Amino acid sequence: MAQIIDGKVLSAALKESVAERVAQLRTEGNRAPHLSVVLVGEDPGSVSYVTGKAKASEAVGIRNTTIRREQTITEAGLLELIAELNADAQVDGILVQLPLPRHIDSDRIIAAIDYRKDVDGFHPLNVAALWQKQPATLPCTPKGIIKMLHSAGVEIAGKSAVVVGRSNIVGKPLAHLLLDSDATVTTAHSKTKNLKEICSTADILCAAIGRPEFIKGDYVKEGAVVLDIGINRMEDGKLKGDVAFDECSHASLITPVPKGVGPMTIAMLLKNTLDLYDNQNISKTTGK
Ligand code: NDP
Repeated sequence: MAQIIDGKVLSAALKESVAERVAQLRTEGNRAPHLSVVLVGEDPGSVSYVTGKAKASEAVGIRNTTIRREQTITEAGLLELIAELNADAQVDGILVQLPLPRHIDSDRIIAAIDYRKDVDGFHPLNVAALWQKQPATLPCTPKGIIKMLHSAGVEIAGKSAVVVGRSNIVGKPLAHLLLDSDATVTTAHSKTKNLKEICSTADILCAAIGRPEFIKGDYVKEGAVVLDIGINRMEDGKLKGDVAFDECSHASLITPVPKGVGPMTIAMLLKNTLDLYDNQNISKTTGK
């Protein structure tokens, strides 16, 4: 029977360490780290993610401000808001909830965020730093996955890893982090031929596709480690991953959906906010 890598338990430990550090900062007379989240429009999925991020921040003592703007905001208007947040010494992390409305160029918005406040690690300078193995703010989901592998005692070096999905926010950075951990990495996508055969060679199989239960049991090698990143909301309101979990009892380790990669992503967001706060070379004493 495959063992579960429990993202809920791991993320709770990580959140606790962030909370302890924030409490210590406060005791020493410093202001709390501050995450500003920008939400454009009313997309229910985005609203729910943003609410979750706000609750998680507050639970560990991180100040969270959610700035809501109408769906009709112009790109110039959003750039102006980003400039204000960049200039605000009380703001440590800026997160623009994606997707943005079609009339706004997301890449331009992300590039406008001060890279030192880029809590998602999506800014081109952070991406470049990741590729060059320089210190960088790493995207939360891939960072959380590597942490899960380490916590579960998975040796990555020398392993064959297959990442299905090549988005800028999950697939590509995850493949790169696995490569930096000395895995031999294959990135697969919608044009990949023989996907099942490729997946079934993987010691570590990561699915970031966005299609419920796309990865069937026979895609998974006996004893493989399976990381299911997909979050698919079904008609009945339940969440399903990209992996047919029930068909994967022959894996050695597997992340469930929910309570797998999702909670780790949130925990990493909090950790990134704290790190950005620590890295900003300005006084944070409240004078109290
Ligand atoms: P994208 O839609 O940006 O990327 C999906 C990727 O899957 C693309 O690279 C696409 O290939 C590939 N793909 C689509 N169909 C197939 C197919 N039939 N065969 C092989 N590859 C395919 O999604 P994201 O990367 O943003 O997210 C992926 C999933 O992860 C979603 O379910 C999302 O909700 C979830 N997610 C979960 C997070 C978490 O915290 N757990 C965080 C972020 C995302 P191509 O490039 O060729 O189009």
